[in-house]
Amino acid sequence: MEASNHRPTKMVIDRQALRHNFLQEKHSLKPETKLFAVLKADAYSHGVLAVAQVLHEVHVDGFCVATLDEALQIRQAGFPETILVLGVTPVSQANLASQNDISLAVSSCDWLRQVGSQLTTSLKVHLALDTGMGRIGLRTRTEVLEACQLLQADSQLIPEGIFTHFATANEPDTHYLEQQIQSFQELTADLPLKFEYRHCANSATALWHSKWQFDMVRFGIALYGLNPSNEVIKEVPYQLQPVLSLETEIVYIKQMTAGQKISYGATYTAQENEIIATLPFGYADGWLRRMTGSSVLVEGQLCPIVGDICMDQMMIKVPQLYPLGTKVTIIGENNGHRLSATDAAHYAGTGNYEIVCNLTDRISKKYVN
Ligand SMILES: *Cc1c(COP(=O)(O)O)cnc(C)c1O
Repeated sequence: MEASNHRPTKMVIDRQALRHNFLQEKHSLKPETKLFAVLKADAYSHGVLAVAQVLHEVHVDGFCVATLDEALQIRQAGFPETILVLGVTPVSQANLASQNDISLAVSSCDWLRQVGSQLTTSLKVHLALDTGMGRIGLRTRTEVLEACQLLQADSQLIPEGIFTHFATANEPDTHYLEQQIQSFQELTADLPLKFEYRHCANSATALWHSKWQFDMVRFGIALYGLNPSNEVIKEVPYQLQPVLSLETEIVYIKQMTAGQKISYGATYTAQENEIIATLPFGYADGWLRRMTGSSVLVEGQLCPIVGDICMDQMMIKVPQLYPLGTKVTIIGENNGHRLSATDAAHYAGTGNYEIVCNLTDRISKKYVN
């Protein structure tokens, strides 16, 4: 989708905050641990190529993405870093990956058996291990040993990594996490083959269990300044600076009288003389209808969204007749008050990950600093 650049709704992406989060994490790791930035889903909606450029300038060690297409986009833009596809790539696409020097996660021995004959150049692979996430990966020691044999038997396959993913690293209760760590250690102990990177740490593990950084960290949500526990765990080893703000302007404003109604379904009724402002921002931009009733900031004051959120517009109740063009903050700071993606997530009964990923590329992006 083309961004609507002629509409006053925009994401403001603070490059300095991105650098800050990255460098704080970098400095908290052992000097030999590699720091990979997770750029899947258009860098959690922050704009993948712009984010990659900032991180390239501060010497990121590599990038992780979800799909081969996301990897190709970064590679074709000219970035030289290692790029790892975390999801399952069809065997039929493995050669395309190898030709573009893209590393692939491998989650079955069958995949390794089938891929060998198709490669025209060598392919870097990371064995995915399922230690309790129940998503993708080898599940037993027997399978891991078999995969090692298959890798040893094919010189086109480069054993670049072996990894797992945690289901509960962002929760205060570490019981299940400890089980997964133990299983990862058992599955990777004394293998007949040396993998360059053994890795298991997402943002939550990196922040709260950095002992388990192994050879590399896959740093996603915290890179964007968001707390992976949605602030259930408030203590963080360094300040996370939110990278994304979301702003718009009042484009229409009116005085309503008691009994007049607002939006589809006419479910909201003005109880008295109310001032209602209209914003050029709606669910097609990713602010889902379940956000009705939550607040945005106008001149530092919380103003509730009233009536159903429309596809492209929404209405808010404001305390006075502001001039058209008055700034409205949906995520970010406004006159000393702040609303975060995590606040929105709490309202919607979800996580900050989903709030930012939902933002669509109809919203124009402005990069600052
Ligand atoms: C998305 C993802 C990450 C990044 O997780 P964050 O919680 O955003 O840091 C790391 N590893 C894998 C396998 C992932 O799918």
